[in-house]
Amino acid sequence: MARFKEAENRLLNKSVCMSCYATNPPKALKCRKCGYMKLRAKAKESRKS
Ligand SMILES: [Zn+2]
Repeated sequence: MARFKEAENRLLNKSVCMSCYATNPPKALKCRKCGYMKLRAKAKESRKS
C-alpha cells in the first residue's frame, strides 16, 4: 500500500538524525551536525481526507 512512499518522503519530509535529532535536508546522507549516518524521515502531515 506504499505507493509513493519514497517520493513523498523526499518531497515532504526532512531527515532527522537518530543520534542528536538534528534536522537535515532530505538529500543528506549523514547528519550535518554530528556526522551520524542513520537518518530517518520525519513524518509530516501530508494526509488529505
Ligand atoms: Zn546528528
